[in-house]
Amino acid sequence: MNLTCFKAYDIRGQLGSELNEDIAYAIGRAFALEIQPKTVVVGGDIRLTSEQLKLALARGLQDEGVDVIDIGMTGTEEIYFATKYLGVCGGVEVTASHNPMDYNGMKLVREDSKPISGDTGLRAIQALSEKIMAGKLPLDGEIVSAKSAPQNNGTASQDNARINSRQRGKYITKPLKTEYAKHMLEFINVANLKPLKLVVNSGNGAAGPALDVIEQQLKDAGVDIEFIKVHHKPNGNFPNGIPNPLLPECRADTANAVREHNADMGIAWDGDFDRCFLFDEHGEFIEGYYIVGLLAEAFLAQGNKEGSKGEGASSSGHPELDSGSKEKIIHDPRLSWNTIDLVEAAGGIAVMSKTGHAFIKERMRKENAIYGGEMSAHHYFRDFAYCDSGMIPWLLVAELLSVKGTSLSSMVKERISAFPSSGEINSKLADPKASIAKVLTAFKDDAIVFDQTDGISLEFAGGDGEWRFNLRSSNTEPVVRLNVESKGNIDLMNEKTKEILALLRN
Ligand SMILES: [Zn+2]
Repeated sequence: MNLTCFKAYDIRGQLGSELNEDIAYAIGRAFALEIQPKTVVVGGDIRLTSEQLKLALARGLQDEGVDVIDIGMTGTEEIYFATKYLGVCGGVEVTASHNPMDYNGMKLVREDSKPISGDTGLRAIQALSEKIMAGKLPLDGEIVSAKSAPQNNGTASQDNARINSRQRGKYITKPLKTEYAKHMLEFINVANLKPLKLVVNSGNGAAGPALDVIEQQLKDAGVDIEFIKVHHKPNGNFPNGIPNPLLPECRADTANAVREHNADMGIAWDGDFDRCFLFDEHGEFIEGYYIVGLLAEAFLAQGNKEGSKGEGASSSGHPELDSGSKEKIIHDPRLSWNTIDLVEAAGGIAVMSKTGHAFIKERMRKENAIYGGEMSAHHYFRDFAYCDSGMIPWLLVAELLSVKGTSLSSMVKERISAFPSSGEINSKLADPKASIAKVLTAFKDDAIVFDQTDGISLEFAGGDGEWRFNLRSSNTEPVVRLNVESKGNIDLMNEKTKEILALLRN
């Protein structure tokens, strides 16, 4: 039996054949067998099937003797938070993020919210789930309920001992939104926040209730932020469409509300709010690339004020004397010049990592990096167990707006003209490998830098100016993704983008 819902980083599938309660139950048992946890925390997004799938998953875990803590309707990062906060051995969020209505899925972590993906446990859980679904791994011994389980009184026979060891796990519910919200606010100095008007659009996903708790805590702290709430109420029927602000057609409601209410910033999330998207005070969508630079700057500015807070970092209090106190920022190779420029100007060290959450998190742990950002709107934080959050980014930007006393558009405009970029352009190609080779042949001789961290990255400094590009094939689709940027020359960037696309597509 082949379970096609197991992908490279997580579980995702069409409801019915690919993912159903039987499969969710099997995944629960397989998780228990592979990870051997004592306790696992579970949560689910607002999708209509999430609750039932979560409960089936919980039954599987319990049947293998694992205690389950259900934290209720959540975004993915609430599971990351809970796993670390409660000090448990694993966590599972039932979510399909921004996928179509008839999909659902799961994101799995082990202790300290470390990702369980392909070669770090997910393949093994898949193999065990497939065996369970095929009936090849029956629960050995009778399962007894926790209540009626015989106590081990020393006279138990071999069989009874086995029953004892197979005692069914307990199930409790434990909402943690208050603790979660409190942790979110620790990423900023709340006293810095000036009165702001913010448009927030949860797309009827999971973000609304989490935001309400953050709003209340800000109010209690005497902060005057007015939230204009768009599509705020969670609704698994998604009456306003599946929330995926990466799609231009999903942006209008946020942009319009910003203009209508004269807001300082717009914020929109996807269904499980692990990705957040920002709009400036004119309602203009800000490319994720420039947000990475903004957040890097925000963190490095905090570090300079307060000294390093990192677990492994050391600081003499004199950054110029102590190179070890330089904070590291991880970025992906697709677009990087703006990030590197800002990080170096702020006294930090920029480190490039392969794209993808598992790679970024691993690299951040290795480098003790304070922050990592991908242009795809995933932002990772050391003090958040190196996990991605869709709440911390906008809080940091709100603080930056307050401290700098300037508008979001003016903060970003300068950076966009200093490093104009094409944004990610996807091409569906019959033979991605051959097409990438063709582009490489055409440009390699003129390149001053050639890097293969992730796809191919080439840099140029010819007579027509400085520019670079990254070209990589998708792990999940038959497409190649192109990103081009230049130093201060938008015409050059556009011209080179056209040139590469023509080579690729012809
Ligand atoms: Zn998501």
